[in-house]
Amino acid sequence: MPIEIDHLGIAVRSLAEGLTFYEKILGMTVVHTETVAIEQVSVAMLPAGESRIELLEATSPNSTIAKFIEKRGPGLHHIALRVENLAEALEKLRQSGGRILNEPRLGAGGHLYSFVHPFSAGGVLVELIQKS
Ligand code: ZN
Repeated sequence: MPIEIDHLGIAVRSLAEGLTFYEKILGMTVVHTETVAIEQVSVAMLPAGESRIELLEATSPNSTIAKFIEKRGPGLHHIALRVENLAEALEKLRQSGGRILNEPRLGAGGHLYSFVHPFSAGGVLVELIQKS
């Protein structure tokens, strides 16, 4: 299975503010909203072909999204790539001295995901996802 872009994660001050552009102006549709307690974010998913736009709103000032916006303002936060075997990808990364930000966790929709530190991914925060 080739690697695919699962979604682009975009940090917004509020979902309502973010949706003004994606929903009202571009005409995209929200198919899923969810609050992910462990990440302290509310999420809105909008399909874009085979991929999706993921809007991320902090639910707490301690959320990584709140800190990101405080530092840089709203914008592209991460890209999420779908891999066939997450454990294998993480193992390869570890062997090459890469930094993984979290052990695989169950995310929205029941898939496993881990974040890779931008130091190990060319300056981009990368979320690796394994669809089960
Ligand atoms: Zn994501």
